[in-house]
Amino acid sequence: MTPAAETRARRPHAAHPAPAAPAIEPGADWAPWAACNPSSLAHHGGNCCTAARAWFLAMDRSFWQGHGGPGWIPRRWPWGPSRWPLHWCEAVRADELDCGAHAFMTREAFRARGVRAVPVQLVQRQERHHYLHWLGRWNGSGASPAWAGEGAAYHEACATIAGGRAEVWDASVGAWLSPEHVRGVRSIAAVRIGGAEETGEVVTWRGVRVPLGVWITPPTPPEP
Ligand SMILES: [Zn+2]
Repeated sequence: MTPAAETRARRPHAAHPAPAAPAIEPGADWAPWAACNPSSLAHHGGNCCTAARAWFLAMDRSFWQGHGGPGWIPRRWPWGPSRWPLHWCEAVRADELDCGAHAFMTREAFRARGVRAVPVQLVQRQERHHYLHWLGRWNGSGASPAWAGEGAAYHEACATIAGGRAEVWDASVGAWLSPEHVRGVRSIAAVRIGGAEETGEVVTWRGVRVPLGVWITPPTPPEP
């Protein structure tokens, strides 16, 4: 490469999109979470689960305003412990559901609306003092507290993808997430959008180019 060509190649050019965020290696403290597959509800193969799923999708159709995420799901089933495997017929009867159930049901709702939706897995920073409370609550319900850590937690969400753009919906909170939320409680230490099937595709999430199917850390925006 000539020196002139080298200079041209290095110069950022508006026509060239920013490089995608690089894949990261999971830290020792969250490697078990990185090895998790996104949660999915099981199906008994019978009418119990078929009817439960049909009822759920009919509920979503009746609540949908034509835009936005299905905020009715965490209002109907507030966030709490779930025991896995969890079947459709058990999920709709539950008093509360964990983020894995929320995220899976939300993907199903988006897909039934004709929207492409993929799983999202996160490691979020949390306040250290929540940890013992979460352990007690999940253990007391016979559910696994393996998602909870001291100062961090594993979380699942859902992304919609259209025209190369992703938006991430926190199905347990009922709100869109921003990649700029990298400081403070519930901020994003690591995120994986999409599963193995989507690997190789790159999407833009509010200005951040994200390779699907791999763990990344969103770039830290400048201090305000
Ligand atoms: Zn069933």
